[in-house]
Amino acid sequence: MQIAEHTVASFHYTLTNPDGEVIDASPDGQPLAYLHGAGNIVPGLEQAMEGRAAGDRFDVVVSPDQGYGVRDPGLVQVVPRAAFQGVDVIEPGMQFQAHNGQGAMVVTVAAVDAEAVTVDGNHPLAGVPLHFSIEIAQVRAATAEELAHGHVHGAGGHHH
Ligand code: ZN
Repeated sequence: MQIAEHTVASFHYTLTNPDGEVIDASPDGQPLAYLHGAGNIVPGLEQAMEGRAAGDRFDVVVSPDQGYGVRDPGLVQVVPRAAFQGVDVIEPGMQFQAHNGQGAMVVTVAAVDAEAVTVDGNHPLAGVPLHFSIEIAQVRAATAEELAHGHVHGAGGHHH
């Protein structure tokens, strides 16, 4: 069976940045499962999956606009240190939930001094070309329930 609309594919992956550093990888023996065509994975990777079958191995480079987006400088903000009441230690790289008019977003601390904290609301991988090394583990038909929910149930997917 080939990966197409209404199939569930599970795959092993290693994600590296352009410097060759590993950013993320599927745990040993635990492939990630996704529902094809439902936007569960970044668009560029989903496109590259189309038509693949179990056992296929390939590498693909996904550009930021097909990955986690381009960086938006408007999402970098300087906020008073006092906005972090109850947090004793603030260091670059820490992540916080921030609430604004549109709801909650995750921000990453970019810099900190005595009075102010610079936070970045961009996805940590925004602007980064993504180098995926993929091995397809399994392809199967999606169940009616998975199609209705828009995600995979069971191994490698949602449990609820
Ligand atoms: Zn569900």
